[in-house]
Amino acid sequence: GKGAAMVTAVAYRLTDQARQIQQTLAEFRLSKAQLLEVKKRMRIEIERGLGKNTHKEATVKMLPTYVRSTPDGTENGDFLALDLGGTNFRVLLVKIRSGKRRTVEMHNKIYAIPIEVMQGTGEELFDHIVHCISDFLDYMGMKSARLPLGFTFSFPCYQTSLDAGILVTWTKGFKATDCEGEDVVDLLREAIKRKEEFELDVVAIVNDTVGTMMTCAYEEPTCEVGLIAGTGSNACYMEEMRNIEMVEGNEGRMCVNMEWGAFGDNGCLDDIRTIYDQSVDENSLNEGKQRYEKMCSGMYLGEIVRQILIDLTKRGFLFRGQISETLKTRGIFETKFLSQIESDRLALLQVRAILQQLGLDSTCDDSIIVKEVCGTVSRRAAQICGAGMAAVVDKIRENRGLDHLDVTVGVDGTLYKLHPHFSRIFQQTVKELAPKCETILLSEDGSGKGAALITAVGCRQRELEAQ
Ligand code: BGC
Ligand code: MG
Repeated sequence: GKGAAMVTAVAYRLTDQARQIQQTLAEFRLSKAQLLEVKKRMRIEIERGLGKNTHKEATVKMLPTYVRSTPDGTENGDFLALDLGGTNFRVLLVKIRSGKRRTVEMHNKIYAIPIEVMQGTGEELFDHIVHCISDFLDYMGMKSARLPLGFTFSFPCYQTSLDAGILVTWTKGFKATDCEGEDVVDLLREAIKRKEEFELDVVAIVNDTVGTMMTCAYEEPTCEVGLIAGTGSNACYMEEMRNIEMVEGNEGRMCVNMEWGAFGDNGCLDDIRTIYDQSVDENSLNEGKQRYEKMCSGMYLGEIVRQILIDLTKRGFLFRGQISETLKTRGIFETKFLSQIESDRLALLQVRAILQQLGLDSTCDDSIIVKEVCGTVSRRAAQICGAGMAAVVDKIRENRGLDHLDVTVGVDGTLYKLHPHFSRIFQQTVKELAPKCETILLSEDGSGKGAALITAVGCRQRELEAQ
């Protein structure tokens, strides 16, 4: 009778709803063939970035870093390091001792960079940085020591030497005026002068990927690749000088900061980008830029999730069809929330509690859907990031004419470290897409230590040149 018909109608609505949700998520589920295609395209962009005639219009810039070798254990001295451009801004004192018992001792302090400063004037930003250094030196009781400094600056820079780097473009949440096109080391030196409180010797500007590679290579000499899977996404590796056409000389190797976050900016990933990826891009500070980064880094994964949830809610599949103010708020799903929601140890009730904390009233069904959305988005992120890395390790293998390569990748970043599944899926993907490479991942604490190691090498080079 009527009752049975109603039950059938409800059941139909439910299965139809489930089907539509799965259809939406299917766009994020990439086949092996698609991932191999991503790897292949990354390789093409790598070659374009390295080539003299193609570099100018290339999206993956393959920037030279003037780091020509990994550490050898003879690095020695006391150094200051700055780490700007990740989740936190840090000032560090790093004491490196060489010899039989090598040691590295670190002291550091984390400082907030208010959003008004990130997006204010360049002068304000650099004055703030110098203010933090001043506070740190007071805290350590070292105001009068004129220390060499390494600046980990996690943005694309054109380098012409170890201590010169012109900012190409801001990425992630930064947008301070009058910095793009300027030498960031000069901006820092000028701000130190303005303050008239202490002197420092800025020796090196270092991308966080390079700092991470160096830190890991200090422990493990086979480490010749650096990866950041954090707020942003990027990689570096030791490339043959003969292949880096933008720099003179054919002997030896140099570390190249790939700036792979910009992969796809020429449209080459459009077939796998979804309407949700497009909305995230349109709502960002740098529309049209860093398209690959926007599919696989911590700053944007939560935004992709939010766009999907908004859409599913509009279609009546979630939150009783009600779009709350929370859901309209940019940046609510930080990496740490996604990581919590996706944790296997969490019962659904706890997922609902987390959503509640965010101000999202969910039913049990809602929480199941939210968890599946998060899992699908972060899996794709780990997979396309792995496809990029597969291109890199295979390139190194081919450079050396090997059938098989053992290589270690130094990794850092909140997504890699905090997320319960990212690292595993990433590693599986690299293995599947680059089967001729044995890729080992190593995660050491940081880019600050790496900047100090590079600064140590820079200081020694200066002494040699002065002789
Ligand atoms: C920047 C890179 C950086 C990466 C990870 C990207 O947005 O362009 O220079 O290495 O984020 O922090
Ligand atoms: Mg960092």
